[in-house]
Amino acid sequence: MSEYEIARARMVERQLIYRGIRDPLVLDAMLRVPRHEFVAPNLVDYAYDDRPLPIEDGQTISQPYIVALMVEAARLDRDATVLEVGTGSGYAAAVMAELAGRVVTVERHAGLAESARERLARLGYDSVEVVTGDGTLGWPGAAPYLAIIAAASGPRVPEAWLDQLAVGGRIVTPLGPPRGAQHLAVVTRVSEDELHEENLGGVSFVPLLGEQGWPASD
Ligand code: SAH
Repeated sequence: MSEYEIARARMVERQLIYRGIRDPLVLDAMLRVPRHEFVAPNLVDYAYDDRPLPIEDGQTISQPYIVALMVEAARLDRDATVLEVGTGSGYAAAVMAELAGRVVTVERHAGLAESARERLARLGYDSVEVVTGDGTLGWPGAAPYLAIIAAASGPRVPEAWLDQLAVGGRIVTPLGPPRGAQHLAVVTRVSEDELHEENLGGVSFVPLLGEQGWPASD
């Protein structure tokens, strides 16, 4: 095993299994995705640490445990088309690609989207499509989605996401103000007009900026 495989196995054992991540497919996906490929060269030694890390444009690559928790809650399967809002480095999209049939991921920073696109292509993640835009409007082109997973925290679940969610589908998203009390919400579309909401506890994400998120100053 390479030093990175050893670090990943340790990450899965100590950060995920120990904290209650159970789905064997999720654990397997987390064992496979080379997280060190998604951070800057000077941060490679910290890639498997139990924390988020900075990426370009003042954004972050989420903590491994949070990615696993969100992906497990989304209950992905091979038939699913998933929408991710907030591509960032592309790491979480790669984890989703290990579990779902197709992943569309939206990033508002064109530069981040471009680097993520190149990185995912280089690593062979052909089922991921990276698009630039305001993800608070979803991405109607590939709807309906069996799962919508957001890596940025808004004031409420955008109407557009509910419109683009399949019956039986799930939205997994942080909700709450920048630097304030945020929680991880799981919204399931039980039927055409019935939603069920669950709270998975406190989290800390960068703000969801856009038309149905917080106002963006740029
Ligand atoms: N999933 C990423 C985490 C990225 S952090 C990873 O694994 O690396 C969240 C990202 O959401 C940031 O890159 C930020 O630019 C982006 N973001 C914030 N608001 C957005 C919006 N309305 N549409 C698309 N992306 C958004």
